[in-house]
Amino acid sequence: MDRHSEPVLSHELPFDSYAAPAEAGASQPDHHPDRRRFLQMGGLAGLATLGLGGMMAPGRLSAHNHGGNAPESGAVPSIFEVPLRSDGSYALPSLPYPHDALEPYIDAETMRLHSGPHWNAARVGLNQALEKMAEIRESGAIRDYDFLPHWQRVLAFNGASYFLHLIFFGNMAPAGTSEPSEALKEKISRDFGSVDQMKAHFTRAALTVEGCGWCILGYQPMGDRMVILQVEKHQNHTLWSIIPILTLDVWEHAHYLKYQNRRGAYIDAFWNVVNWQNMEERLIAARKVAGHSA
Ligand code: MN
Repeated sequence: MDRHSEPVLSHELPFDSYAAPAEAGASQPDHHPDRRRFLQMGGLAGLATLGLGGMMAPGRLSAHNHGGNAPESGAVPSIFEVPLRSDGSYALPSLPYPHDALEPYIDAETMRLHSGPHWNAARVGLNQALEKMAEIRESGAIRDYDFLPHWQRVLAFNGASYFLHLIFFGNMAPAGTSEPSEALKEKISRDFGSVDQMKAHFTRAALTVEGCGWCILGYQPMGDRMVILQVEKHQNHTLWSIIPILTLDVWEHAHYLKYQNRRGAYIDAFWNVVNWQNMEERLIAARKVAGHSA
C-alpha cells in the first residue's frame, strides 16, 4: 500500500488555525524530495502572484511608508510579490510594523496571534495542498485522484486565508501615518461616488457579512472598476487573488441538452475545443500584471 491509498483524516489537517501540524520551521532547510518538483509542475501561475501594497525582500512584508526595502530588480514595484522559501513554497513574512503599532485600534495581542500562529497555519495548509496535489498528478492513479476534492478544499481554505491575510496586514498602517492621495480620492469617487460613500458602503457590507468572512474592495479588470464584495466563506472553492485563465462551466445548463447527466463526457468533449492560444494570451497578460515579461 503506498501513501496515496491511505485514508486522509480531516483531524490531521490544519483546519484549526491555532493548531498547525508540525512542519519544518520556516528557517530550516526542507529536504522533502517532492517539494521542488511540485512547484515545477504548474498550477502556480496564478498563485504566485498576489500581494499587498508594497515591495518586499523575501520573507519580509513591507509597506511603502514603513521602511520597506526597495525593489531589487528595479522593476515596477509589484503588489504581487509573495515571500517564497528556497524550495519555492510559501513563507511567512514578518509585518512591516510592530505588533503594537496599530494600538489602540487593533491590540498587540490580536496582531501577535493573527499574524503568527493563525496565519502560519494557513501557510502550512496551502503548501501541503499544493504538494499533495502534485503527488496525485504525478501518480495519475484514480485511487489517488479520489482524494483530490479533499485537497482542493484544503487549498481553497488555506490558500485564500494566506493570501487575504497577506493583503489585509499590508492594508493597515499605524494611525495618523496615511491619508488618501487626491488621485486615489478621484478614482474612489468615480466608482463609489465619494470616499465617504465608499466607506459607508464598505462599512455596511462588512457589518452584514453573515457569519465569518471578509469584506473586500477589489478591482474588476473587465470594465476597469472597483467593486465591493461580501465574502461569507473564503474557503468555498475559490482562491481569492487568482486571475482566471481557463474556465469550464459545469452548471447543468451548459451540457444538459446534449450530455444530460454525463458531465464526464461533456468535459472530455471540452478538451477538443479548448482555445490554447486564448489561454496563452490570458496567461501572458495576467503574468504581465505581476511584472513578468512573458
Ligand atoms: Mn484573520
